[in-house]
Amino acid sequence: MRLDNKICVITGGASGIGLEIAKRFAAAGGNVVVADINIDAANAAAKSLGDGHIGINMDVTDPDGVQTGIDKVIDTYGRVDVLLSNAGIQMVKRVEEFTFDEWRKVVSIHLDGAFLTSKAVLPHMYRQKSGTILYMGSVHSQEASALKAPYVSAKHALMGLARTIAKEGGEKGVRTNVICPGFVKTPLVDKQIPEQAKDLGISEEEVVNTVMLGETVDKEFTTVEDVAHTALFLATFPSNALTGQSIVVSHGWRMD
Ligand code: NAD
Repeated sequence: MRLDNKICVITGGASGIGLEIAKRFAAAGGNVVVADINIDAANAAAKSLGDGHIGINMDVTDPDGVQTGIDKVIDTYGRVDVLLSNAGIQMVKRVEEFTFDEWRKVVSIHLDGAFLTSKAVLPHMYRQKSGTILYMGSVHSQEASALKAPYVSAKHALMGLARTIAKEGGEKGVRTNVICPGFVKTPLVDKQIPEQAKDLGISEEEVVNTVMLGETVDKEFTTVEDVAHTALFLATFPSNALTGQSIVVSHGWRMD
C-alpha cells in the first residue's frame, strides 16, 4: 500500500491518532502536511517525519484560516491528493448541562472542520480528477453513549457529509470514506476517564472496563496503529468501489 509522491493533509496531525497516521503515510512514501491548531507541535511532528513534510497552522473552524492553509499546500506542492479530517475534541456532560457555546465548539471542530477542509480541497481534487477524503468518525458515528451529545451528533453527521461528497465526487475521481474507531488511548481519551468517573459516580477502572471496553470482544483498546493501518488501506484503495462507506475498527464493540 504505497502513497508515493501523494500530498496528504492531516488535520489534528500533531497528536494521537493523526500523528500515527502521519507516520504511516510518510513511511508509505507520502508527503505529509500536519495541519494543527498547535503549530509548535505540528512543526515538531513534520520535522520528525523527515524531509518533504511540513507543519501548518490551522484552526479547522476558521474558514479563512483553512483556505489560507490549503492555499499554502498548493503553493508548496501544487496539488493535494489525500485529506484526512481528523482534528477533534471531546467534552463529557449531560445534555442539559452543556452550554450552547460548548455544544457549538464540539460540533464545529468535528463537522464544520470537515466541511471547510473538504470545501477547500475539492476544487483541486476535481481539477486533478483524483483525490481521497477520509473523515475520522467513531463508533459514535453509528451509535450513542451518554454524556457525549455534541460529539455523537457531529460524528453521525460526518456520515452524511461523506456520502454526499461520494455522490458528488464519483464522476470526478474523488472518493470519501469514514473511519470509525472504538476507544483509543490518546490524550482525548485519557482526559475523559476521570471526568466520566466523576459524572457517573464510578471508579476510573470501571469507566475503562465497563463503559469503554465492556462491549468489546476482548476488553482491548483499539490502537493508533490499528487506525493508521485502516487509514492507509482507505487512502490507497484504487477505485470508486469503496466510497461513501464507513469502516469500524473497535475490537467488535460495534458490529455492522
Ligand atoms: P488528540 O487529542 O490526541 O489529538 C487531537 C488533535 O486535534 C490535537 O493535535 C489538537 O491540537 C488538534 N485540534 C484540536 N482542535 C483543533 C482545531 N480547532 N483545529 C485544528 N486542530 C485541532 O485526539 P485523538 O484521540 O487522536 O483524536 C483524533 C480524532 O480521532 C478525533 O476526531 C476524535 O474524535 C477521533 N476519535 C478518537 C477516538 C479515541 O478513542 N481517541 C476514538 C474514535 C475517534
